[in-house]
Amino acid sequence: MSAVLQPKSVISDLERYFRQFPDVPREVIVKIELLSRGHWFTDAALAATKGSLVKSYRLFSYDLVPMDQLKHNEARQVPEWFYVFQGPYDLRTVMVQTTLDPSSPYIIDVVDGRLALTEGGRVICNVSYPIAPDYYSKKFDDGVLYHEIIAYGYFVTVFRNCQYWGPKEECRFCDINENQRQMKESKDFTMNAPVKRVDYVEEVGREVSREALAREGHQAGVRFIITGGTITKTLHGATEDEFYARYLRALKYGGPRRHVCLQTNAKTRDEIKWLHAEGMDEHNANMEVWDRRLFEWINPGKNRRIGYDEWIRRMIDSVDVLGEFNVRPNFVGGVEMAKPHGFATIEEAVASTTKGIDLMMGHGVDPRFNQWRREPKTNLVKEHEQPPIPTEFYIRLMSNRYEIWKKYGLTLPVKRELNPARCYFGNDHGTYDDFPLLKEAPWYQDPSRRTPEEVLQRAAGWKEPRKLSIHGPEESAYGVSGDH
Ligand code: SF4
Repeated sequence: MSAVLQPKSVISDLERYFRQFPDVPREVIVKIELLSRGHWFTDAALAATKGSLVKSYRLFSYDLVPMDQLKHNEARQVPEWFYVFQGPYDLRTVMVQTTLDPSSPYIIDVVDGRLALTEGGRVICNVSYPIAPDYYSKKFDDGVLYHEIIAYGYFVTVFRNCQYWGPKEECRFCDINENQRQMKESKDFTMNAPVKRVDYVEEVGREVSREALAREGHQAGVRFIITGGTITKTLHGATEDEFYARYLRALKYGGPRRHVCLQTNAKTRDEIKWLHAEGMDEHNANMEVWDRRLFEWINPGKNRRIGYDEWIRRMIDSVDVLGEFNVRPNFVGGVEMAKPHGFATIEEAVASTTKGIDLMMGHGVDPRFNQWRREPKTNLVKEHEQPPIPTEFYIRLMSNRYEIWKKYGLTLPVKRELNPARCYFGNDHGTYDDFPLLKEAPWYQDPSRRTPEEVLQRAAGWKEPRKLSIHGPEESAYGVSGDH
């Protein structure tokens, strides 16, 4: 008689991690898994996305499958992120960036009338989708949707290509150029020009401020990030600094109470001073990987144009001009274990990046770790099979980051944005901010508050609860009164 091998359950893996790392918030472990292995939506879960904040494909695709393999128009239905909470492990709410993979074991489904994260039919926790802001329904006279100019009141990709081109220049994890191409081919996106109009960006920025005013009854602060590809020479007659400064001015001085972040290659102290005067409050020189050898391999264009030592020097210098919490370079968490040249063991990979975190945080630089999504059209994935990065790598690295964050007394990551979840729940694309927030923020320490609505009401101090997310097809069954 031959035995039938059962596939290994990811739930047993999750529970093993919970036991092995009792000091690590369970929410962090679940989120790492969801970002690493992706997830999929059943038809019932997709049908419940109506009215939610749709995924923007704003920079990279952040999917583990190409858009042309999505057969049911999933790319125009799935939410930008979703919340996970409660369930058998009594999770507190964290937000998870939607990362599509039809072969993932993690399935979002409707169970007993409400959205849930499942594996093999077993419920792991509840799920809800963020509701779209009002400005998402607006469009310009030429049909361009406001939300394709600024996503979720925050994200502004002004240049959708990169002049680092081809395998000798492009960062190897990056699919910006491929993502632009697949969006154009899908024809479902109204905004296909690679460069955004400055007047459109200014107008949508004003609409975001108007919505913040209407919602709060006072002019609440808003926050924008300006990003796009590198400009190695000129674009529309402007150098990289001049090009991006047009958008800085439009957003910083286009309305009240703005915090504006710019994301580009590392800039000299003089450039940072100039950009600061043009309206830049924060700068992210995304270094992507700490190890010198891997920096040179993963970021050939950045290495050739600026170089490893100069990149670090510039990030550190920026803090003197912009202040702490205003220099937050991104790292593609996990790419240090990419095949074939990445570290072979978790220990080596964690040790290398931990050393970098310590050096950066000791100088007031606050690195972010956007979890690597292994997008299929990137150089790294096309050239070599890339299995999921071990969850234990992320658990250990994020634990170290939290300890170093405490050691140097850096800021609790709370921001002012149009979307309240993004003020108090960290970021959807990695767990680096969840870790200190779940451990330290008072709004996370109340066992009677677990849903997004309950935690955010406590965090923001609202007298009345607000409707913030969609919990299932029959929304009224989980209705939370008040407008959003
Ligand atoms: S600089 Fe690198 S990560 Fe940024 S858009 Fe260009 S290739 Fe992509």
